[in-house]
Amino acid sequence: MTLSKLKPLPVLLKEILSIPTTSYNEHLVIDYIREFAIDRGLNFKLDQFGNAYIFYNHGDSSRPLVLQAHTDHPAFIVEEISEGKLVLKFLGGLSAQYGIGEKIKIHGDALPQNGVTATVETIQSHELHTGTSSRRIIGAIAKVNSVKNINIGDIGVWDVEHFSLKRKIVHALQCDDLVGCAIVLSTIDRMVFGEHQGNVIGLFTRAEEVGLEGAAASAADGLLPKDSLVISIETSSSEGGRAEQGQGAIIRVGDKQHIFSPKMSMWMTSVANRLKTIHDNFLYQRKLMDAGGTEATAFDLLGYETGAACIALGNWHNAGKKGKIEAETVHIDDVQNLILLCEELAKNTSHFLQVHEEMVSFWKKRALDVTPRLIDSAQSNT
Ligand SMILES: [Zn+2]
Repeated sequence: MTLSKLKPLPVLLKEILSIPTTSYNEHLVIDYIREFAIDRGLNFKLDQFGNAYIFYNHGDSSRPLVLQAHTDHPAFIVEEISEGKLVLKFLGGLSAQYGIGEKIKIHGDALPQNGVTATVETIQSHELHTGTSSRRIIGAIAKVNSVKNINIGDIGVWDVEHFSLKRKIVHALQCDDLVGCAIVLSTIDRMVFGEHQGNVIGLFTRAEEVGLEGAAASAADGLLPKDSLVISIETSSSEGGRAEQGQGAIIRVGDKQHIFSPKMSMWMTSVANRLKTIHDNFLYQRKLMDAGGTEATAFDLLGYETGAACIALGNWHNAGKKGKIEAETVHIDDVQNLILLCEELAKNTSHFLQVHEEMVSFWKKRALDVTPRLIDSAQSNT
């Protein structure tokens, strides 16, 4: 065992959460993931849609476990530049009650690493559903002191902290879904340095925030082995009491439009229950998490045996209190617990069907056991 070489979780989170990204502009995150794979001697591949894959296979011919997360986060893109002004397009979902007066940071190849500050003056929005008052941001005009070295296509992110860890709460611009990417990478890291038997594919998708595009394209093209067990790893809004931060990794049984594979959630729950008997501090929750959609829906409906897991997220898409933009939050113990669960799942894919078969046997036996009692009482009641 060489676990001491593992990248510590706070370091991994700090590194990956600080990379500016948005839909169609995820290349810097993908570069980080490529480096991570190469450093560990693992195969890395891009598909034609730009989704990235890391392959870990150590002495295991069982069904591959695909741990999937997305690499984008809602942000602006520079569309037009004039003297002291930037016209910006917004990619992702956020209420139009946010934005005016907020500071953003423009990041681009020709700009300093910390970016250039601009201030949002006006917001363009459109109706989320026809005839309703809920409107979403689609663009903005921002004021900037100097447009020198700013280029069309540069990314504009909200000017909030990229990463800090205060009393076990991670505060970050883009937990969604770079925390998911970190969970997948950390799980693979633990498999590599623990030299565990397993067959794991890390899948890092693009353009989730604009409609699960990378996931849909990968699933429809059948780029994963047909017998893959796919688990989408996300952060998901805990608003409205959907889940509590610090109460553990979430086995997500569905999202706002779909319920995932019962066999998958049964297997995941069984492995989580076993982990609880091994680790005193391991916590998990089993929840629907229906605030939004998740890529598991695309993989499930397009033919893969699919489940999902997530972390309870605060300030979803940087929507803070009283209409102010804030950092998103997650509890670091929840992140650690989900990594533990993913590692255990990766080591146990050969038991996937066994859990289901045991439950079927249990209910067959229950039926046999109760039959005489029920027939007797039914007859004596008539
Ligand atoms: Zn999101």
